Amino acid sequence: MISRRSVLQLGGALAVAGSVGAAAPSAQGARSATVPWDQLRARLRGDLVLPADSGYDLAKQLAVAEYDAIHPQGIAYCETPADVASAVRFAQANSLPTRTRSGGHNFAGWSTGEGLVVDVSRIKHVKVGASTVRLGPGAMSVEALTALKPYNRQIVTGTCPTVCPGGFLTGGGIGFQTARYGLGSDRLVSARAVLADGSLVTASATREPDLFWALRGGGGGNFGVLVDFEVLPIDQPRGVYFATTWPWDKARELVEAWQQWSLADADTLGSSCGVLLFDAAPGTTPMVTVNGGYWGAQADLEAGLDALAAQAGAQPLSRSVAELPYDEVMMHVYGCDQVTVKQCHRVGQNDEATIPRGGALRERHRLFDKPLTGSALAATLAAFDADRHAGHTRFLGFNHLGGASTRPGRTDTAFWHRDTQFLIGIGAALPSPTPSAEDEAVTKAWVDRGYGIIDPLSTGHSYINFPDERLEDWQQAYYGGNYDRLVQVKNAYDPGNFFNHPQSIGS
Ligand SMILES: Cc1cc2nc3c(=O)[nH]c(=O)nc-3n(C[C@H](O)[C@H](O)[C@H](O)COP(=O)(O)OP(=O)(O)OC[C@H]3O[C@@H](n4cnc5c(N)ncnc54)[C@H](O)[C@@H]3O)c2cc1C
Repeated sequence: MISRRSVLQLGGALAVAGSVGAAAPSAQGARSATVPWDQLRARLRGDLVLPADSGYDLAKQLAVAEYDAIHPQGIAYCETPADVASAVRFAQANSLPTRTRSGGHNFAGWSTGEGLVVDVSRIKHVKVGASTVRLGPGAMSVEALTALKPYNRQIVTGTCPTVCPGGFLTGGGIGFQTARYGLGSDRLVSARAVLADGSLVTASATREPDLFWALRGGGGGNFGVLVDFEVLPIDQPRGVYFATTWPWDKARELVEAWQQWSLADADTLGSSCGVLLFDAAPGTTPMVTVNGGYWGAQADLEAGLDALAAQAGAQPLSRSVAELPYDEVMMHVYGCDQVTVKQCHRVGQNDEATIPRGGALRERHRLFDKPLTGSALAATLAAFDADRHAGHTRFLGFNHLGGASTRPGRTDTAFWHRDTQFLIGIGAALPSPTPSAEDEAVTKAWVDRGYGIIDPLSTGHSYINFPDERLEDWQQAYYGGNYDRLVQVKNAYDPGNFFNHPQSIGS
């Protein structure tokens, strides 16, 4: 969660996990020529985009350009739950493998495929009720935060402005508010979903409770197409934003001190620590950052930063702190404080959008119940710095969860990882969406070396919203002891496995 506009511009996401290779749909599906697309077009209030249509190249894009190589037979832009039901029934009737897409950020490419893409990015309502807020699956973080500002309400979001609830909330949802206010999915009150038979159901603690349980951490693309999320808002309309950079030669001390600070101050501090190399050419110096939000008095944050510097034995190279409305805090986090909300979108999403897509990402992450310290941390930093390769952007990200996210029981929702204090990942953004074999080989070797150091110290678990197609035991890694119950829910709600991807429940 240390993503910054500058890094997005350099070809990818910073604090997010990655993919290894494009995902292919598991079913063969109907051939496009035999599919009666006009029938679907006639039923949709939204638009159907087919390969011959002028907007097709844009319509098939995800956040990572690598997946442009996947060519859906059709993209159905759904504007209502009835549109979604029509698209699902049409896909079923025509044996079309189907993927659901909201914000298109999945780093393994699971929100696209060679059949039908059910796109719900246009279902983006943000409705404020007496005690809850309703969000459409396509309401991007930046849009939702802006819409909620006049109501002095906020929600848990991550650090990318264009990530949507469709994937974010179903997978868990980690942000700078998480240590204090919990996971996004822990604040879910109810959700509406179109199931594989086209029916629309509401899931809550009292209605379809098993589905409601599964939707909070089970991950997107498994049980149905979510068309509405009802969440508990956060009554914290302001926060203290801070951004600091630190000398590379004090990285170990700084990361250790930041982890201890995060553990001690979980109720007020929401932050991440990152080591970055914008260009991994030999001779360049990594940048070390600590950024985030603080949910207490600015003076207390300033004192915390002073203590961090004292413990690390280094003064920050830069330090900016400002008490702001929460949406403005996040505009800083996004690196969008100098641009408009409209400009703070991915290129292609509107005419003014300025955030470029990434080329290809190669990243691996693990969850940790204790800090990474001493010789293991030193070895990780050394591995990060080794084997330089010009043109690649590298990151080592340390994200704090802890606090409120650890209070529910492991089986209260599908999110198993209640012991997690830190999410740590290492990765590289490659400029080309089609990396050369040499690029792939050197990047894999480099990522593997760093991951190989941290992996044995982790809980052995991973976060489904940062998918990792190289995990052999992904069922255990993402879901631990909740996996068997997730399979039961899957069998009850999608017995034909209509909603699937390479690591979907029950596959
Ligand atoms: C720059 C960047 C920063 C990020 N930072 C964070 C962060 O700080 N914290 C964090 O927790 N995560 C973060 N993520 C990861 C993010 O939460 C996941 O990628 C999330 O799944 C994206 O959801 P989406 O709807 O935007 O993407 P999509 O690719 O559209 O969807 C992701 C998955 O959910 C499925 N899905 C999408 N919509 C629906 C729906 N309506 N119903 C059912 N299934 C659906 C898709 O089929 C796919 O499998 C970040 C990602 C990026 C790119």
